[in-house]
Amino acid sequence: MNLVHKSYSFYSHDLNIIKYNELFEKAKQLLEFKNSISIEVCDNFSHFINLSKFDWINHFRTKLPNCNNQDISNAISDVYVAYDNKRNKLIKNTTIKIQDKFKISYYKKNVGKNKVGDIKSYELTNKSTNLTKVTTYLSRYYNDGLMEFLKTNKVDESKQAFRDLVLKYINKFGDRLINLAKSRQKRINSRLTENPIEFESYSYTSCTEQKQNIITKNKNKNNESNAYITLSGQKINGGKIVIPIKYSNKHHGSIKHYFKNPNNKSQIQFSYTIVFDEKKKRIRVILCRLKHDDIVKHKKEYYGLDINVKHNLFADKYGNQVDYNRKQLLDYVQFLKRCDEKLKIKRINNEKPVLNKKDRINKERLTKNIKDMVKRKSNEMVKKAISLGKDHIVLEDLNISSKLFATNEEFEGFKYSRLVRILSLSDIKNIITSIANKKGLQVTFIQPHYTSQTCTCGCVDKANRPKQEIFKCVSCGETHNADTHAASMIEDRLAVDVLRKSLLNFDKGLYTPKKLNKSTIKNILESCYDNNKV
Ligand SMILES: [Zn+2]
Repeated sequence: MNLVHKSYSFYSHDLNIIKYNELFEKAKQLLEFKNSISIEVCDNFSHFINLSKFDWINHFRTKLPNCNNQDISNAISDVYVAYDNKRNKLIKNTTIKIQDKFKISYYKKNVGKNKVGDIKSYELTNKSTNLTKVTTYLSRYYNDGLMEFLKTNKVDESKQAFRDLVLKYINKFGDRLINLAKSRQKRINSRLTENPIEFESYSYTSCTEQKQNIITKNKNKNNESNAYITLSGQKINGGKIVIPIKYSNKHHGSIKHYFKNPNNKSQIQFSYTIVFDEKKKRIRVILCRLKHDDIVKHKKEYYGLDINVKHNLFADKYGNQVDYNRKQLLDYVQFLKRCDEKLKIKRINNEKPVLNKKDRINKERLTKNIKDMVKRKSNEMVKKAISLGKDHIVLEDLNISSKLFATNEEFEGFKYSRLVRILSLSDIKNIITSIANKKGLQVTFIQPHYTSQTCTCGCVDKANRPKQEIFKCVSCGETHNADTHAASMIEDRLAVDVLRKSLLNFDKGLYTPKKLNKSTIKNILESCYDNNKV
């Protein structure tokens, strides 16, 4: 069994308002500090981009009345990570690809006006070459010292091979390549800094080094809170904050799991996150601990599910569907639209575009309710799977999917892509896996490509999906409900031997999608279904 880090939440119980305010004051200072760093970074980005996280911490380190050094370092690190993530995303989106080949497909049967052999579609495929890889690398890392660094700093063989390749191309193409990388770098950086990242949440993460354990059980059994969390080294009277909590063995596990051995200075280190509930004046402390993973493996009763936003949340191939709570979502969307409107007015009046306290608190509450709803619906779907005797859920890997994000249609004046973010459908992977694994079901993610365009006759074509709701094969004419059909195609990726073996890696009872380009996937699908049926 593997050990994994898992986070657990502890809600404060009857937290004294003075303590709450002390913590909140600290959070306010940290939030302002982060936003001031964000602005400074954007003002001189070409300088900061080449510095490490450690350099940032040294540069921005300061004193804040309510914060200790750990709080401050962690805040700086948060800003560094936010910019690094945003930059990586931009680089990924602008990765250079070059045109590879045209692929032409033909009709295999007479369909309507089209005869066998007529041209059905053209497809342009891209490929990434060593040169595009080197250019992408240089766009990411090029600076004046890079060449010298690559020549003198030795690494292991696998990495060295790539560095040699970089040096080889620089020798070959010289300034042309470097200028290209620099101009891409410039473009990415200017997009990155056109709006400084604005930090909104009062939550903060910090660490403590303390003599006593972070959680202690309450000896007084009459107390409603049965344990407390101690955070030492605080810049307040007495240096310590004690937070009464409710500890549940069932949910949090044995308290011993949170005990750690002290280091050679007889101090125990903990990292923790504090989240504020401004309405209830309550806080949540998030702690991490090691836990045996409970990943379910080797299950074979496959159950494909299509996830979408438009018609329902989940659909299986039998026609079962679980929808999200539309009324709740609509209320939420309307609330967000009102917020958008208020922010717009503030922008027009040249005010800082931030929500007032009431709206901010409401937004937090409603967002949480929406996330809870998605969890409830996932739970419902898992129960459905169990009732059908299934033990292995198959889903599209939404991280690598553009399907959910591609649609630009609107829901009550709201882009679907924003709705997808709101419904935290990108988290849905973790949500379902965790719920399913707890109930003994395995979960596998497959490549999302062509699940909505593939027909069991072997025809894979965009035109097979004339409307969102309908699947109608342009080659054989078969017609289905689009979501039901997609669920069936998703299930096939595991249930059909050829597809499972060609598209997925298998390791110790678990499947992961192979890294294949789209045209390879298409070829595999076409030949599999062709042989299967025709
Ligand atoms: Zn067909």
